[in-house]
Amino acid sequence: MIIILVGAPGSGKGTVAERIQNKYEFPIVSSGEILRNEMKQETAIGKQVLSYVSSGKLVPDRIITALIKQKISKHQHKCSVVLDGYPRNLNQSLALEDMTQTKQRVFYLDVPKDILKERLINRGRTDDTEKVIEQRFEVFLNETRPILDYYKRRDTLVRISGTSSDEIFRKIDALLSK
Ligand code: ADP
Repeated sequence: MIIILVGAPGSGKGTVAERIQNKYEFPIVSSGEILRNEMKQETAIGKQVLSYVSSGKLVPDRIITALIKQKISKHQHKCSVVLDGYPRNLNQSLALEDMTQTKQRVFYLDVPKDILKERLINRGRTDDTEKVIEQRFEVFLNETRPILDYYKRRDTLVRISGTSSDEIFRKIDALLSK
């Protein structure tokens, strides 16, 4: 099974992924972490993606898809994987289906916008400045939200609303342990 966490910036995808990992021992594949790692190590890929990440735009699909494919294939012997931050547009959703035929469960982390903003400002990552945050919200609305309709039509989407990652994890946990 592939557990896909979709949510606006600041919705707690990373925190919820860790809570799922702690309880179920499913490995996490986090697109944001992978990219930040490449940038930190100043690899060729890191250099290519820097301008996108620091301006809040999506990095090109072929780059992120290749990285995710590599990571997922490493975990293929395990029963399940938690995907944090991928897919983020329709093209990536289709690429993921090509990568693996494993059953997918998609959780949309629906958190009120005032809470999202407050969290991002307090987090203080280098791409968490006011201007870049706005850009990431735009990208979420225009490019990522359409995948929610796609998954809804395929009956794999569950909307999880909450104001804390605790509340959201509890709701997902209840569904996973059923
Ligand atoms: P957040 O959800 O708060 O925006 P992430 O760590 O998931 O944080 O993403 C940070 C940045 O990394 C994004 O703004 C984007 O530039 C890049 N990124 C992450 N995941 C993807 C993806 N699947 N496709 C393209 N770019 C991505």
